[in-house]
Amino acid sequence: MSEPNNLIIVVSAPSGVGKTTVLQYLISQRQDLVISISATTRKPRLGERDGVDYYFISEQEFQSKIEKNEFIEYAKVHDSLYGTLRSELERLLKSNKHIILELDVQGMRSIKKLYPNSISVFMLPPSTTEMERRLRNRATEPEEKIKIRMERAIEEMKCRNEFDYNIVNYQVEQSAYDLNTIINAELLRPSRIRLDFEITS
Ligand code: 5GP
Repeated sequence: MSEPNNLIIVVSAPSGVGKTTVLQYLISQRQDLVISISATTRKPRLGERDGVDYYFISEQEFQSKIEKNEFIEYAKVHDSLYGTLRSELERLLKSNKHIILELDVQGMRSIKKLYPNSISVFMLPPSTTEMERRLRNRATEPEEKIKIRMERAIEEMKCRNEFDYNIVNYQVEQSAYDLNTIINAELLRPSRIRLDFEITS
């Protein structure tokens, strides 16, 4: 697969780290970024909207899309299926915007194989206690689900060295600033700089 001009930025974080808040903040500051919308079999949480937060689809629809090869990657996370639709990524690649994919670690690995120049960022909580507090504050999950999410979070954090960058989310504005810095630095790589002149000896 040829590498696109748009940056592809995979952002992963265990539940309760505050990834979505950081991304929403950055998006509000930067017009050249767009977040890809994944499909999922998970039920919408309070306030989540179909076609905005996710494409909420049934297990049957998801399976049928797998069979029709409509996903560029998909993974099972916390008993639900999540996947990036080929059509969604193709649509975003045609825009001149840099694309943010919010994926789990499995998704990051798949995207790195398909797009080796993609950038991967893993966000961590200031502490596991703080992460658990945020998960409970969200109050959208029953107690046993919180326990499962905490265990999975620890497993995911063990993979942090596989990522190009790590951000510890002490504070939303600072984390958004850090992500902004990463994006700006990546845009200054020699391969991305088009010169208006030729270098001849
Ligand atoms: P949540 O249910 O909290 O919205 O998401 C649970 C996990 O699924 C998060 O780690 C999120 O990044 C991941 N996820 C969301 N969409 C996708 C996707 O399209 N593919 C993969 N591999 N993971 C996803």
